[in-house]
Order: sequence, then structure tokens, then C-alpha cells
Amino acid sequence: TKNAIIIGSGIAGIASAIRLQIKGYSVTVLEKNSYPGGKLSSFELGEYRFDAGPSLFTMPHFIDELFELAGKNPRDYFQYIKHDKSCHYFWDDGTTLEADSDIKKLSKKVSETFQTSEGIIEKKLSKAAHINRVIGDLFLEQSLHQIKNFLNLKTAKAILKIGSLDLHKSLHQANQDDVKHPKLVQLFDRYATYNGSNPYKTPGIMGIIPHYEHNVGTFFPVKGMNSITTSLVKLAEDLGVEFIYNKQVDEILLDATQKRVKGVMINGKCLEANVIVSNMDVYFTYKQLLPKIKSPKKTLSQERSSSAIIFYWGIKNEFPELDLHNIFFTKNYKEEFDAIFQKKTMYNDPTVYINITSKILKSDAPDNSENWFVMVNAPANQEQDWDNLISETRKNIISKINHVLKTNIENLIATEEILDPRSIESKTLSYQGSLYGTSSNSKFAAFLRHPNFKRNIDGLFFVGGSVHPGGGIPLCLLSAKIATSHA
Ligand code: FAD
Repeated sequence: TKNAIIIGSGIAGIASAIRLQIKGYSVTVLEKNSYPGGKLSSFELGEYRFDAGPSLFTMPHFIDELFELAGKNPRDYFQYIKHDKSCHYFWDDGTTLEADSDIKKLSKKVSETFQTSEGIIEKKLSKAAHINRVIGDLFLEQSLHQIKNFLNLKTAKAILKIGSLDLHKSLHQANQDDVKHPKLVQLFDRYATYNGSNPYKTPGIMGIIPHYEHNVGTFFPVKGMNSITTSLVKLAEDLGVEFIYNKQVDEILLDATQKRVKGVMINGKCLEANVIVSNMDVYFTYKQLLPKIKSPKKTLSQERSSSAIIFYWGIKNEFPELDLHNIFFTKNYKEEFDAIFQKKTMYNDPTVYINITSKILKSDAPDNSENWFVMVNAPANQEQDWDNLISETRKNIISKINHVLKTNIENLIATEEILDPRSIESKTLSYQGSLYGTSSNSKFAAFLRHPNFKRNIDGLFFVGGSVHPGGGIPLCLLSAKIATSHA
């Protein structure tokens, strides 16, 4: 039988393992950490459980698809529910919006809160659905690096409709044109951060993102985000995939022709394989694992997505005004993004995201307590003075929360852990600690991501957030689908 080695057990590595095993390969996953999942993992802090990374779960059908492909019932492995609220939004001036996922309810609340004209939300979300119809599968579900994928009717139609996709304006400009009210513009601008980009730079075509949140919906895995990882690892193991932990791959070996993979080097030993899938960040894959191969300079020099500072706080109190997802907006979004992407530093009034899984999964925190995942966007790691920036940011976050919730949150923090761009980089070997690989701050970003295969090396594939089609769980799953379809 043919065998395959997967380097890394991030979500895309696990999905690739499942797909190749189903295709008849004998698959081994080599993971440097002692646990699977990479960014999508969890940990406990005293009596509190935290999901370490992703907190927003959209497009669960891409997960179900893997179980179905294996002939299993997804519900035997993985359960999730649809969440009826998308987010609770808070502004410093006391304005709040409890956004429903349901479009009609959301629309009603928006017009009551902001006195906007009727139908503004419906129009915005139907535009998002339109963008998805025209370019969704074209850009996300296939390779952008094969000419044949462009020589079809769907592409021709998309090109004819290009004018309606807001490609020529920034997301911020498109939102201003569409929803006008500054707070609503801010709300729709925030979707740029779902792939670590800047709404003042990323093209309006990113107006596709609210389609997934509102037209398709937001979901919650009943055992927490980490159960996405654990249930897929269980499926992979049931199919016969072998996972080996605490094993960092040192090099990818090619055969004498230099045109075909031979295996990987690990602790001075060669493990042979017919197919190698790298789920390691593509930047480090070239720099560390393929030192003898000419690396694609332009691709590797693309601007990285934003990173983040996360405070995991066990909170000794309950806040009924908060939900699963909460946002406390900055007073000046433009300045915040300038700080992150131009000045490459932290802004002194950051937008704060608080995720509280114990709102749904009670066992994640002790009685009368909550597990707060408090995240602010940060620049990619370029060796800034993080210790200083973290302590300033912590103060700024606390004063913002205290102001809006009229509390003294610092006294309620029972336990704390911090993740920052440096530790994101070292834990999962993500170049500059970026959350989503390269940024989408240019019209051409989609075409400048590394493809899922390597044209002149047979048997070598690339998956995960740093390659096509991009970061975030759903796109990582699609990278595995595209890559393994070529194997
Ligand atoms: P990664 O998770 O990057 O894992 C790569 C794995 O490979 C790691 O386990 C690493 O140890 C291993 N590895 C690397 N090199 C080697 C080597 N040489 N040998 C062996 N093993 C190696 N996405 C969403 O969809 N929704 C969200 O709400 C969301 N929020 C996020 C919040 C945070 C704080 C972070 C960090 C990310 C968030 N994301 C979110 C993004 C999402 O987590 C990532 O896009 C996705 O999990 C990346 O998966 P991946 O397959 O690229 O692998």
C-alpha cells in the first residue's frame, strides 16, 4: 500500500489524514506537541476549562462531510447546536445591540437601536449571499492555480458580475455606502478581522463573510470547540490513521531526481512516504523543512494577518448581560487598525472580544462563575516589546470593561493565563504568530497564497491556514479537500 505522512495535526492536517486514509493510503500524522489540534485545542486552569483558539464555529457541514465520507453517522462522533444569538455588541456611550442570528429579528432590533431605514440589514445580507453565489466555490472550493478551473461557465458569469462584488472599494467604503450609520458600519467592518485583515484595506468582496454568520448561522459544539479536534482524531484513529506526538519533523527529503518526495527526517532518521502533506506554516515549511529548495519569495513575503493577545480569565461572578460572543467596540476603529497594521503596535482603546463558553457549557466554570476568553487584535510578531504592550493592554481592557459593565473586573479574576503573538508563533510554528496566515489586505491576496501542491515536486502537498484558500476552520478544511484531491 501507498503511505502518507502528515506533518502537523492542526485541523487541516487531521482532515487530510482522514481523506487520504479513505483513499487507501496508510497514514501517519507526526505532531511536535503532546496534543492534537494546533490552534484548535483546549486547556484547564483550576476549575475552569478554556478553548485555546477558535471560538466561532461556522459551516459545520464541512466537518460532517468528513464523517459521511467515511460512511459514519456524524452524530455518533460530534454534536453541535445552532446558536440563536450572533453577538452582543457594546459601545462606550452606552449603546448596546443583542444581535440575533435570525435576520428578521436582527433587522427589527437594528432599526429600533439606530433608527435606520427599513430593510437595510436584509439588503446587506442579501448582497453577502450574492457575493457567495458568484464567487464562493470559485475562490474557496477549488485550486486557483490550475487554468482549467477558470475555463468554465461559472467563471465567465462571475467575471460579468464583477462590478457587483465591491472588489474596487475597501470593505469599509462598501459598508459606508450600504449601511451608513457609523456604528453599523463598524459592526460590518469587524468581519475583516475574521481573516485577520484591515477593513480599510481589504476589498469589499469580504462582504461575503456575514453571509456565513447570518444566512448560514453560528453554531456551538456541545462539548466545546476542542471537540471538533477530538472527534475528528477519533474518526481518523477508527479508520486506522496513526498519530505520533512529541515528534517534530526536521526536513522533507526528496529522491535523487529532486522531483519526487522520498520521506521525512526526524531525529536523524528517515521515515519514507509516497505522499507528504505539510500542515506546518508554509513559511517555515520552506525555511526549515526544504532548505535546499528555492523558495517562492513573493509568496512568502506577503503581509501576514493580524495576531492577538488573549487573556483567559476565570471570573468569580456571572454577567447576565453577556452572551457566548461579546464585543466591546473601540471609539476609533480607523486608529485601531492603523496601530495594528501600519504602526505595528497595540492601540490604547482596543476593541475587546469576550467569549464565554460556560454560558452554554455550564461545566466549563464553577457555580456562579464564568470562563472568559478575552481577546484583542494585535500586530504580527516582529519582536515588539510584548511584555510592556501586554501589561498596557491589560490595563486598557480592564478599564473599558469596567466602564461599560459598571463593575470592577480585576477583583473578580480568580485565575489567569495569557497567549500572545510570541507564544502563538512558538506553540504552533505560525510565522509571526499570525492567526490566519497571510492577510487579505489586497485585491490579489487570494492569488498570492501558496497553492495546495507543488508543481515540480510530486507527492508534496500544503494544507492549513497559511496556504490556499486561507485561515479559519472552514477554509483549512477546504485546503485539505483540495490538496488530497490531487494525491
Ligand atoms: P495549526 O492549528 O496552525 O496547527 C499546525 C500544527 O502543526 C501544530 O499542532 C504544530 O505543532 C504542528 N507542526 C508544525 N510544524 C511541525 C513540524 N515540523 N513537525 C511536527 N508538527 C509540526 N478560526 C475560526 O474558524 N474561528 C475562530 O473563531 C478563530 N479564532 C481564532 C482565535 C485564535 C486565538 C487563534 C490562534 C486562531 C483562530 N482562528 C479561528 C483560526 C484557526 O484557529 C486557524 O485558522 C486553524 O485552526 C489553523 O489550522 P491549521 O490546520 O492551519 O493548523
